Order: sequence, then C-alpha cells, then structure tokens
Amino acid sequence: MRLYNTLTRSVEPLVLRDPGRLAMYVCGPTVQDAPHFGHARAEIVPDVLRRYLEWTGVEVFHVRNITDVDDKIIARADREGRDAAEVAERYGRLFTEQMARLGVLPPHVAPRATGHILEMIELIERLIANGAAYEAAGDVLFRVRSFDGYGKLSGRRVDELRSGARVEVDERKDDPLDFALWKAAKPGEPSWASPWGRGRPGWHIECSAMAGRYLGANFDLHGGGADLVFPHHENEIAQSEAATKEPFARHWLHNGMLTLRGEKMSKSVGNVVTLVDALDRYGADVIRFFFLAVSYRSPVDLSEERLAEAAAAIDRWQAFLRAAARLDVEPADAGPGATARQAFSAALEDDLGTPAAHAALFDLVSAGNAQLAAGDQAAAAVSRDALRELAGVLGYGLSDHSSTTDRVSPLVEALLELRDEARARKDFVTADAIRARLSAAGVVVEDSRDGARWHLS
Ligand SMILES: [Zn+2]
Repeated sequence: MRLYNTLTRSVEPLVLRDPGRLAMYVCGPTVQDAPHFGHARAEIVPDVLRRYLEWTGVEVFHVRNITDVDDKIIARADREGRDAAEVAERYGRLFTEQMARLGVLPPHVAPRATGHILEMIELIERLIANGAAYEAAGDVLFRVRSFDGYGKLSGRRVDELRSGARVEVDERKDDPLDFALWKAAKPGEPSWASPWGRGRPGWHIECSAMAGRYLGANFDLHGGGADLVFPHHENEIAQSEAATKEPFARHWLHNGMLTLRGEKMSKSVGNVVTLVDALDRYGADVIRFFFLAVSYRSPVDLSEERLAEAAAAIDRWQAFLRAAARLDVEPADAGPGATARQAFSAALEDDLGTPAAHAALFDLVSAGNAQLAAGDQAAAAVSRDALRELAGVLGYGLSDHSSTTDRVSPLVEALLELRDEARARKDFVTADAIRARLSAAGVVVEDSRDGARWHLS
C-alpha cells in the first residue's frame, strides 16, 4: 500500500516494522466538550485504513490516547465548580459512545494521560540527562536548539520560527521556542509529585510517553488532524527522538480539516455542529460517506448539498440490497464481484483513495440492478454479496430492511405457520386476522401456489 507521508512529503510504500502487523498511534480527543462533526473525520480516516488492512490480512495494533488533563478541562471544571476528573470522565464517556454510534472500531488501547504520569516523568528525566531539557522554577522546558531535526515534519526552519515568535518576556526560557514538558502546579489544579515538585505534564509529552509505552521506538504510523502537525507532532518527534536517539514514527498520516463556510470548525470560532446532532439527523453511514467522498487529505466544507448527495448515495446502495435481499441462490465468486474487488483494492492501495473505492461500489450497484432487471439472479447475488463485503471494509453498516428482514423472519414464519393451520381447519376468520395484523405491521403477505410469500412494505 502507498500512502502520503507528511514527513517526506511524498506518497510512498507503507513499510511495516514487523511483517504483517501495523503499529499505529492516533492522537485522540482532549475531553473537555462533546465531539463535533470535524472530530468524526479524524476517527473515520484511520478507521478505514485499519479496516482495509485487516481485510487484506494485516494485523493492526491501534492506540488512541485520551487527553484527560489540560488547561481547557481545568477551565471548564472551574466554571462548573466540579473536579477536572469528573469533566474528563463525562466527555471521555461521551466520546466513546459517539464513536461506537459512528461505527468506528475501538482502539486496542485507549491510554489516558493521567494513567501514564510515571512514564512522562521518566521520559522527562531522560531528556534532562541528555541535555535536551532543563528545569526552570518548577517547570521543565524542552531545549529546541538541542534537537537538530526540529521542523522536519512541518517543514519550518528554526531561525524563521524564532524570528516569527512573539517576543515574550519569559526569563525562564533559554530560547523563545522552548516548550513546556512539565508545568509547576498552580493552586487548585490537579497535580502530581515529581522530581521538580508538584505539577502536571504538558500536552506534547503525553503523546510521546504513551506512544513509546505501547508501540516502542520506530513504530509504523502516527496519525492525526492536519492542525496537529505544528507544534504538537513536531514536538512529539523532538521529545521522543531526543530521548531514544531512534526514529519516533516512520509514517505520518494527517487528515484535512473540516470547514464551515471556509472556516475551520472549532469551539473558539463558534461554528460547531455537534456530532450527536449530526448522528441523529443523518446517521453514521451518511456522515462516513460525506467524508470518504473526498480524499482524506483535502479540506472539506460542510454543506447541506454534499450531505444530501451522501444520503442519496447510501439510499441507492440500500435500495439495491433490498431488491436483492431475498435472492437465495448460491452466489458464484466471479464476474462483477471480482472486478469490483480489484478496483476497490487498487483504489485504497493508492493513498487510501476512497472516492475511487466508492466508484467501484457504484459500478457494482449498477451491474447488480442490471442483473436483476435481466433476471440473472445468480449474478445479482454475487453483486449483492460483494457490495455488502466491500462497503463493510469502508465501515458502512447499511442496516436497512435486509437486516430487519433477517431479524423478523423467524417471527413472520411462525405466524404464517399458525395461519396455515387455521386455514387447514377452515378457520378463515383467524387466518385473515393474522394476515391483517401482519399487514398493519408492514409485512405484505402474498399467497401463491407454492404457499405464502412475504416481504416488508
Ligand atoms: Zn498527540
């Protein structure tokens, strides 16, 4: 598989450290508020990568952290008169619930920052011992000039950053670019004991420590939103590589931002559509289609029109699955199914090309509808099964009448047996009542010479 690597600025093969196994770290949420529509993209993109690789037989080890100590969490807790841990717990749970509704596979490990303070302290101690960090009045700062590779991910040059940096009078810092690894405790804030007195970790060191703890050095892939490239990911690289003297992550995957009328969706801009509202209104498949209809790297603007197109596409897939749901022929694995699989794989192998993967699914639906119209049930069943399988690889549930049919089938069959028995003893009142009740529940019964057939209206 070839993927764009932010670090090298090129599309290159995704090389695995351990053959057959992808070690992946994705920056997770800071749990200070309900997730918004844009957060869905940062979860769906690695979810599709993972599902596709698993489908090809690669084992994916997926780590996504939860930042549960942060200035914004503390500020919210202060406003609400609650403990920061309670705020983090509330929004951490909400995030997990909504990602499940969105159909995002849960990570194998979801480390919380507050559960890894010891790892962070150890990492900071190594950096101090290496000369890459220094203590200043209870804070510990990373010495940017000690790390030659600083700027390699974001393509920024240290001297430009320095001249562009706001000139703040901060006597603790040797260099305006130096950033906090550890922050001395302020009154009323959550804090932990450390060799530098009570305090709490900086955001960047959290991810370095947790990625190192679960994935080691030189792991395969690090993901996150494009807004994290600088300074967060740049700082993660500096901290980890200065401590271990080994590469941190080899491949960097960044998803483009979601905008609303051209502006990044964010709480500070005040243009937030919450994920729960979007899930209630559109459902998980439409949201997923909306994002996967464009390259994961492109920015995408939230528009009603694009969401309506996504809903129409999902409807079209579901309509074919409904029409083909009751074909019970033994499908043969050939023809359009095999062609679609090839086109689908080729699309995703090429920098996770989900728009082209969608096109392969649309071709399958067109072929399947033509097969149905021509009465070629075996071929239509192949198309149906291929669509279900490949849509599933992209994370689509497509739950509709077909799965409802599966679930209600034993009940309907049982009622039809009772109706047959009633008719056999000439109790037509009961037989008609059963049919009327089924009809009222949306089950259409048609009598034929081979017995009763039914479908959902
Ligand atoms: Zn991170």
